Amino acid sequence: MNQPILGCIADDLTGATDLANNLVRAGMRVLLVIDAPDGDVPLDADGVVVALKSRTIPAPQAVAQSLHSCRWLRRQGVRHIYFKICSTFDSTPKGNIGPVIEALMDELGCPFSAVVPAFPDNDRTVYKGHLFVGDVLLSESGMRNHPLNPMTDSNLVRFLELQLNSASRRKTGRIDYASVAASADAIGARITALRAAGVSIAIADTLNNGDLHRLAAALRDDLLVTAGSGLAIGLPAQWGFQASLTSAQLPPAKGRRAIVAGSCSAATNAQVLRFLEGRGSAFALDPMHLAAASIAPVEQALLWAEKCWSGNASEPLLVYSTSPPEAVRATHQRLGVERSGELVEQALAAIARELVQRGVGRLVVAGGETAGVCIRALEIDRMRIGPQIDPGVPWCYAAAPHLPLGGVHLALKSGNFGSTDFFTKAFSYLDQPAKAAP
Ligand code: ADP
Repeated sequence: MNQPILGCIADDLTGATDLANNLVRAGMRVLLVIDAPDGDVPLDADGVVVALKSRTIPAPQAVAQSLHSCRWLRRQGVRHIYFKICSTFDSTPKGNIGPVIEALMDELGCPFSAVVPAFPDNDRTVYKGHLFVGDVLLSESGMRNHPLNPMTDSNLVRFLELQLNSASRRKTGRIDYASVAASADAIGARITALRAAGVSIAIADTLNNGDLHRLAAALRDDLLVTAGSGLAIGLPAQWGFQASLTSAQLPPAKGRRAIVAGSCSAATNAQVLRFLEGRGSAFALDPMHLAAASIAPVEQALLWAEKCWSGNASEPLLVYSTSPPEAVRATHQRLGVERSGELVEQALAAIARELVQRGVGRLVVAGGETAGVCIRALEIDRMRIGPQIDPGVPWCYAAAPHLPLGGVHLALKSGNFGSTDFFTKAFSYLDQPAKAAP
């Protein structure tokens, strides 16, 4: 049995699966656990990812959960801690990225921490400290309309410093692109210079996978790194792992197919539209109905699903609250951001749970927060990570004796991930034997 060398703390569930996906593709066997348990557990894995739901909770709670996870991971013997953040740096001026980094630095006694948000395979790059989503700045991307953390500043060096505790006097800086493009040694020299200038947290410019590999070589011995999932493509090789097919094998899939979408991100809106255009069967959940009629819309969705399956039991069904930005804004004005988010999350979680009780064994969930509440509703506490569907989204398998099929295959899709045909193509990956990672 292996002892894990890498312990990761992910601030949301889809971020955790995204990170685990990259580690698995690079040859590590990875276990994902939902929240850190209190006691010690035998872990037969090379890497362990703790999935929290700490991205949008109050900063002191995010800090407490992250510290608990860090201490648990250290007790399990891990040698490196990887704080996984979203590649679109989802946060607000109050946190939670900055406060958690500072708490982990204090806990681990790290005087410096590199931050590598970029994920070029998903078109998230960082140049001169500015985060780009595809061809546009973060602040001009769909993320400016995010329901919970609208991202309106793409300068991460500036934005992260806003989140730091003024009493800590930590300064942010930048590992510049010239150093990142040159070599691991040049990155090391830049970090030394930044530290001499009083910088203790530095955002790394990153444009491509070569940059990530050089950053991984430079950071391979660090006790703490903060990164999107991109850096994970390079770290395993630095520790002697090689890509292999076996690290991504899952048990055969069975049961009905369903998709639950609570993300209002641009990519999910396009995926829902494509599914509807392809005449997929879909049920729209309206937050205003939920506010007025409590669980009635949930019951209607389940009755609708059973009716669809009585005609065609293998048809994938979509239940969605996904809406374009103007509709989300209107809902926020009437119900408030928190209340509308919670109403939808609770309804979709109940629907996911009941669909699995009714024989769904392959479930796609769109939305980070949405995935978190669905997993909790299914009472799943750990998952194995399998083959990639699209960058950042693998199929996972949770063995769960309390579920009718004894377990469930899950694809937990961060809102902005996946190609437009994701909702149909995802299921085809479970019907094929594991193939080489693309
Ligand atoms: P993403 O990964 O795209 O950020 P999340 O699931 O993390 O998606 O977040 C989306 C949030 O928006 C959730 O809290 C969800 O409940 C909420 N939400 C979903 N649909 C609507 C809607 N139609 N109106 C308002 N809020 C919504």
